[in-house]
Amino acid sequence: MDSSIHRMSVQQVLDHPVVPEEQKLALRCFLKSWYGKDAQGGWMRSQHGSKDAAALLASSFTCYPMGNRHLPCGGRLVDCPSELSAEAAVDPFRILMCGYGRKHCGRGNQCRRCALDRIDLAWSEFLPAWTKAKHWCAMVFGMDRRAEHAGIHQGDGTLDPETASVPVYQPFAGRANGAFSLHSGSELEYMVDATRNAFFDTAKKICQKGILGGAFVHHELAFSFWSGVSHYDGSHIRHRMEPHLNLLVNAPQPLDLKVIKEIYRVLCYCLRRRLPPDCRWSYPDLWFAPVLAKAGMASWLGYMLKMWRFDLWYQEALNHRCSRRELNLCFDEIVFLNGYRLAHPKGATRRYGNLRLNPKNPEACIALQIPDPMTQEQIKLCKDESYAAAHPDLVDAMFFWLEKRRKRRGHSRDDSETEY
Ligand SMILES: [Zn+2]
Repeated sequence: MDSSIHRMSVQQVLDHPVVPEEQKLALRCFLKSWYGKDAQGGWMRSQHGSKDAAALLASSFTCYPMGNRHLPCGGRLVDCPSELSAEAAVDPFRILMCGYGRKHCGRGNQCRRCALDRIDLAWSEFLPAWTKAKHWCAMVFGMDRRAEHAGIHQGDGTLDPETASVPVYQPFAGRANGAFSLHSGSELEYMVDATRNAFFDTAKKICQKGILGGAFVHHELAFSFWSGVSHYDGSHIRHRMEPHLNLLVNAPQPLDLKVIKEIYRVLCYCLRRRLPPDCRWSYPDLWFAPVLAKAGMASWLGYMLKMWRFDLWYQEALNHRCSRRELNLCFDEIVFLNGYRLAHPKGATRRYGNLRLNPKNPEACIALQIPDPMTQEQIKLCKDESYAAAHPDLVDAMFFWLEKRRKRRGHSRDDSETEY
């Protein structure tokens, strides 16, 4: 957006002539739900930063011809530049209208409601496994440019990697810091992909070696902005992208420092295999904290699968004295276009070991299998009692998805019996 407005201010966004009417309309629809007196409105207001994120989204991509969305032929986005097709970038209209007409946008990285959906599904899948494995642990694999800092860090027990952690093993101390930081330009895409693949390789390998029983992992990107001459586009806004892998793991033995060091060794090995020497710009970093209660597991899954906090990234950029006009010019491209492409949202979540269903040995999987969503046809068939009696799996699936649908509409678990 070519303007110096504060994009988290709803009023400034709604008043700005460059913001397309369609996106203003979507923002008004969002606000209508946000101010709603019902359970959904209450939930939306309780989500810190959701209104800021909505205003930021509504003012995104204003310099592109998004007005071409609805063409007389009924097509969408066909006249837009190819990189801005609905599948290649974040579609602000679709996300702000999430839930209208009972259609969900499915963009868990940018939509809080859809992030909650994926968290809720992960709770259904993994919380029943809590008693079936012994030693659960939260982990994050990441990269750090600072040689003194990179290594193994132990969490303080709050299961939040952003709180202070204790450095326990810093093998690169004394070496030179990495000279460059990773930006989101397509010329560095291969490095982002190689790092991501190395993280996945590590999770797979440590399960195969029997160090871990199983792992559920989610790849995530984070951005930070500060002022200075950019190595990405020559503007006065520098940015850094931080790919990292969030893991929930279980192990047959307690995860003491000896075992964690072994995992770190495998991480270094996998990164070396994927990244050629001239691409090793930073050092591997591993954060871990044991999960001691089922409630801790639930909150860690929520942290792992949270939506991107681009409202915080924008605010921190302003705190770092970025010029608002220049930040507005580059923010959408970096976060909503490049970030969306580099995150590979469809392949970001994986399961290994005893948390993955192996069709040849289904008993070995300790997680609950989420049934496939039902078709209308199947739901109709299940209403017939004799058919339902012959297909108990389908009936279970129907109740599972009915419960999920009720939750989406803001019902609590307690009133489920009165309404059917
Ligand atoms: Zn959504």
